[in-house]
Amino acid sequence: DIVKIGRALISVSDKARLVDLGKALTARDVEILSTGGTAAALAEAGVPVMDVAQVTAFPEMMDGRVKTLHPRIHGGLLAIRADPSHQAAMLVNGIAPIDLLIVNLYPFEATLRRTASFEDRIENIDVGGPAMVRGAAKNHEDVAVIVDVADYDELLAELERHDGGTGLAFRRRLAQKAYARTAAYDAAISNWLAGEVGETTPKWRAFGGVLHERFGALRYGENPHQSAALYLAAETRPGVATARQVQGKALSYNNINDTDAAYELVAEFDPAKTAAVAIIKHANPCGVAVGETLLEAYEKALACDPVSAFGGIVALNRRLDAEAAKKIVEIFTEVIIAPEADDEAIAIIATKKNLRLMIAGALPDPQAGSVTVRSVAGGLLVQDRDGGALDPSALKVVTKRAPTPAEFADLAMAWTVAKHVKSNAIVYVRDGSTAGVGAGQMSRVDSARVAALKAADAAKAAGWPEPRTKGSVVASDAFFPFADGLVSAIEAGATAVIQPGGSVRDAEVIAAADEAGVAMVFTGIRHFRH
Ligand code: 5GP
Repeated sequence: DIVKIGRALISVSDKARLVDLGKALTARDVEILSTGGTAAALAEAGVPVMDVAQVTAFPEMMDGRVKTLHPRIHGGLLAIRADPSHQAAMLVNGIAPIDLLIVNLYPFEATLRRTASFEDRIENIDVGGPAMVRGAAKNHEDVAVIVDVADYDELLAELERHDGGTGLAFRRRLAQKAYARTAAYDAAISNWLAGEVGETTPKWRAFGGVLHERFGALRYGENPHQSAALYLAAETRPGVATARQVQGKALSYNNINDTDAAYELVAEFDPAKTAAVAIIKHANPCGVAVGETLLEAYEKALACDPVSAFGGIVALNRRLDAEAAKKIVEIFTEVIIAPEADDEAIAIIATKKNLRLMIAGALPDPQAGSVTVRSVAGGLLVQDRDGGALDPSALKVVTKRAPTPAEFADLAMAWTVAKHVKSNAIVYVRDGSTAGVGAGQMSRVDSARVAALKAADAAKAAGWPEPRTKGSVVASDAFFPFADGLVSAIEAGATAVIQPGGSVRDAEVIAAADEAGVAMVFTGIRHFRH
């Protein structure tokens, strides 16, 4: 399977190391064919070279658009040497075999990186180069193809090993690389043109998915200087991406992100058992509550942190009714999302022209298998969606006192809400509504303090005698590494605690709870959300 190199065609835009390569090939008695610029560079360095124009008997023409596109060149690359009919065709048509092709393409990608005109980019689309590369790679049974200056050394080593020839395994590896190169080259051209014709912004095509027909291109991203778009995933999970927009301004990038967080949170509460409302700001809940009715749940959720709720996103787990709608429109809200809405409720929302109303059709199943995706520089992080649900039978009471049934109901709710709060998450709940939420602090004790502080502020604003953390229960999304976080929660008035457990200092934490007469349960699982 060794093919001795008799003739080589060299046509390169990047002329680095060209002369050395030409000399090395000449030293092995390889006859060299070249296109205009390449031939000139070789000839100038004293390397014997024949211009392809002599072979084709056509001049290079049309600003180089047509150089090598000729049967004498492509026949020399594509002919199957072992096939007598191909041999005959070569003979009859005066075609000589080309055993080695060395090409690097017009630098189209470089025109994307520098300011270049449309015409300049078009002119830098190589046609004859890829045609030869693909032909030589197809015929790698007989032909070796090099598309990268970095492979010159390996080529010369291969020629050294095989006395001026190349082996089939080597040629096949080169063929693979050749097609990878032409594929990437055409992808660069097509992505650029996609942007030119407004199909989609090229940089996002790498992330796949289908551009959302309605929200597709967003006005901007997290900030006005960032462009953005929404892509639809293949999965059919009910939520903001597939919801019907009944009215209001177009959703922004941040609206979509926050609405998603809000709806995923209320979906945790079974609408057959209870009404639930979540008010979200910056992807964290500032109030979550359950109740007999949506109105009751909304009023309780709002009371948790009415200052933050201004300009928030409201998600409901049941069909939006008129009485809840009437209350919600009393303050400025960005988005409402619900599985359904009564006509009367829709009419009430209509009085607020800008308010966006999204009807999702259904609630997502929190336990349904699904993935979440986020990006890092140069990659995508993909994981299973956090479908962890509280398993009451797996709970372990670790303190002398067990939670009362009332405490237990609030503990379950606090745990569920904590799952949807950025870590470190501390959530106080009392009587079916959050009393304080501490989100995203870099230390757990700070999250506990922040939550208590917000509860104290809310009490002051509402004229309550004491913050609602007094007599509350508290959830922590991950274990307390030290007793200090728990002590802070006890100081705020928590009487029962739910947390994963598993810290090396669990004994210390349990002792602190027992000392205060606080009940504590371990879940055995955690809910980091970064
Ligand atoms: P040179 O500098 O030798 O004049 O041109 C080398 C470049 O021309 C290489 O990048 C090669 O891929 C490209 N090339 C070779 N044949 C053709 C052709 O027939 N048409 C076009 N557009 N480019 C070609």
